[in-house]
Amino acid sequence: MNSQKIRFFRQRIPSFECIPGCHDCCGPVTTSSEEMARLPRKSAAEQADALENLSCPHLAEKGCTVYVERPLICRLFGTTPALACPHGKRPEMMIDEAIEQQIYQFFKETRQVLV
Ligand code: SF4
Ligand code: SF4
Repeated sequence: MNSQKIRFFRQRIPSFECIPGCHDCCGPVTTSSEEMARLPRKSAAEQADALENLSCPHLAEKGCTVYVERPLICRLFGTTPALACPHGKRPEMMIDEAIEQQIYQFFKETRQVLV
């Protein structure tokens, strides 16, 4: 059920080109347990380290190491005025507002865990 929703949302979040090498919007993020289970496991120490630096344990020098499976919140960034890219990057068409609301509803309904 949740995997269907996740697929549905992923398909409807518009993509766009970022500034190469930029990861300024990466930081501590939360995600559903289902999406978390798709990410490689990080130790508590690695998670604590990242959190202390207000970073994400999957961020490496060359960017996101889990890009294909990155959480919905990471995908949403830059596609809505509510999460605007500080460098003005955006898709041609921002996300449909109804879909955005459904995603926030999904966040509320699912247990969110720190990535
Ligand atoms: S959305 Fe903006 S801040 Fe985030 S990685 Fe892309 S260019 Fe950088
Ligand atoms: S999962 Fe990837 S895109 Fe999301 S915050 Fe972490 S490094 Fe950035």
